[in-house]
Amino acid sequence: MKRENSDRLFEKAKKLIPGGVNSPVRACKSVNAEPVFINRANGSKIFDADGNEYIDYIGSWGPMILGHRHPAVIDAINSALNSGTSYGAPTGLEIKLAELITEAMPSVEMVRMVNSGTEATMSAIRLARGFTGKDMIIKFDGCYHGHSDALLVEAGSGVATLGIPGSPGVPKSFVAGTLSLPFNDIKSVEEAMKKHGSEIACIIVEPVAGNMGLVLPCDGFLETLKRLTEKHNSLLIFDEVMTGFRVAYGGAQSVYGIVPDLTCLGKIIGGGLPVGAYGGKREIMEYIAPQGPVYQAGTLSGNPLAMAAGIATLTELKKAGFYDSLNAVSEKLGNGLSKAADKAGIKVSVARSGSMLGMFFTENNVIDFESAKKSDLKLFSAYYRRMLEKGIYLAPSQFEALFVSSAHNAEDIEQTVYAAEKVMAELKDF
Ligand SMILES: *Cc1c(COP(=O)(O)O)cnc(C)c1O
Repeated sequence: MKRENSDRLFEKAKKLIPGGVNSPVRACKSVNAEPVFINRANGSKIFDADGNEYIDYIGSWGPMILGHRHPAVIDAINSALNSGTSYGAPTGLEIKLAELITEAMPSVEMVRMVNSGTEATMSAIRLARGFTGKDMIIKFDGCYHGHSDALLVEAGSGVATLGIPGSPGVPKSFVAGTLSLPFNDIKSVEEAMKKHGSEIACIIVEPVAGNMGLVLPCDGFLETLKRLTEKHNSLLIFDEVMTGFRVAYGGAQSVYGIVPDLTCLGKIIGGGLPVGAYGGKREIMEYIAPQGPVYQAGTLSGNPLAMAAGIATLTELKKAGFYDSLNAVSEKLGNGLSKAADKAGIKVSVARSGSMLGMFFTENNVIDFESAKKSDLKLFSAYYRRMLEKGIYLAPSQFEALFVSSAHNAEDIEQTVYAAEKVMAELKDF
């Protein structure tokens, strides 16, 4: 596979952009690889600067649930584009997207648009603090909630990939109010709430964790969070930036039947354009300026192009049977990858929630960040590089999920499983 153009671009990028990338995991450092530069994408395929074609399972890290350049999304963006790109004033498009979101998630009675998932979680936490009058927060090791100061403790995603426990530049006092507990550990949450409940503004969680690889919630974990936040007058925040409209149209909260106080969204609701949102109970959301005292604003918030892309995307997702066929294709992939590993005698732990998949190179049951970190990272790196060579574009980290889109067809899955079988056979005695 030719890489000349990508290599040349990376050399140049490194001189102008820190690490040559605008988001750390893209650099592929942890898998001892260099990034391929992308020229274009279409459907389930992505094409690099040297003309190589890959089946894309990153999907821009989650948003592209319809695949790339879905005609309905492209048309909606084009039509918004012809009217203007930004007004800094309200539009009907914002109402339409808010309607689609609140209909999909009954816990979300009002919603505020922002420009990224990071902004959504940061603002939701400020709101939780303002509403409860309390300062401390609880999060979980290996969950990623964007890069705002208070949430960069024991975080997942790129922070986990690069092995950074906390980040320089975050003042100690900013994280003193953040308790990070093991995911799925009901006992430790009970103890922490018993001790600090009166100071805890909120518990924020990825209801299905997708930033330490894919880790499902154990029986009773989310219910416990709901019960304890209610008991201690704290808020429960579901960070569904990744899972919202991904694991089901109504998000993980609809799958597990839990009603959070606040929900954070992003990724899919922007249809590939930069969007985030946070919403929840009316009485809480009314605390936000200008209706209430908690301040939060944004020059480009509710941007018309982004709203149009989001509306078009959710409208496609709402169609009857959409998730059934997407999930069936995803199940085929999960089963195929498990079988490929079995055949080669390589121990893996595969998990799936809708069209989000994870495969850890470990024989242990992965229930939290500790157990996720026991995966064989060297083996993952070798697998990643060989899969890329065979035209399969996976996230370059053991701690990231894999996303299937409605553009992936049976042939894509067969080709991917075939590649995995070959690669696993090569890695048999790794
Ligand atoms: C991606 C992600 C974020 C951050 O969103 P950005 O748009 O990258 O700022 C926050 N929370 C979760 C669960 C995510 O997956």
